[in-house]
Amino acid sequence: MWKLAYPASSAEDAFELCTDGMRRTDLRNRLMNVKADYVAAKEKFQELKKQNELHLFSITNIPAGLVANDEFIGLYDEKIRSKKSKARVIFSELMRDVDRCPLCGKTPKPPTLDHHLPKSKFPILAIYPQNLVPVCHECNGLKGDTFPTLETEQILHPYYESIENEQWLFASLTENETLTFNFSVQAASSWDVSLTKRVQNQFDLLKLNERYGVWASVELSDVAETLIDLYNRTGTSGLRNHLLSQASSRGRRNRLNYWMAVTYRTLATNQWFCNGGVLELLAFL
Ligand SMILES: [Zn+2]
Repeated sequence: MWKLAYPASSAEDAFELCTDGMRRTDLRNRLMNVKADYVAAKEKFQELKKQNELHLFSITNIPAGLVANDEFIGLYDEKIRSKKSKARVIFSELMRDVDRCPLCGKTPKPPTLDHHLPKSKFPILAIYPQNLVPVCHECNGLKGDTFPTLETEQILHPYYESIENEQWLFASLTENETLTFNFSVQAASSWDVSLTKRVQNQFDLLKLNERYGVWASVELSDVAETLIDLYNRTGTSGLRNHLLSQASSRGRRNRLNYWMAVTYRTLATNQWFCNGGVLELLAFL
């Protein structure tokens, strides 16, 4: 749940790039007739976002008879996403400098844009840059067309909100027949009830416990032999120092809650693992 730089392009920039030089003059003329509705919608979006009340954004169709919803949504597919369109600069600008999915932390650069308020329900926001967020395919698929109807269902918006100054993602390790990581959200001291519910809701919606659990197990299996070797040569303290240093380098630059940093922090503080449990890794994997 990372903060991303606020897009430099405005709603008006996107509208102009999408409509300027359009061959279908009939469509262009009709689009010009709904421009005021589009600008009003982005102002409403801004006003509600400021109060964290995007769940109150009403599902309004584009004025009937002027432009069909699909025609407006088409601007996103045929202009913003199309490599042949000059409106593609919006896509490129939003993707620039983003090195991981802001919703789950998956690297490398996310391949797609998610409509924060889905275009199927809010077609008037289909090309609004502040409604377009780079995300990974998995988060995009899991989020799908969901939209908030309650304050607590609002997904944290990476252009406006950040919760990365405190640790809220924790994990535990259980060793039974398999070695399992269990990730969970623990509310930071500064959070109110609403934020706590929002983060938990987002964590569940994006299946972060399951996904992080799998990624952590894969990471552990990749480094198993190195950790065993380290324990054999340097004992508990050598292993723990290595794990702590991995946790701190993965969590640098405000990435306290990056799943990989949390994975290493969990291993470093696990008594069983650091006191020789590491030797059982190969049997588990
Ligand atoms: Zn993601």
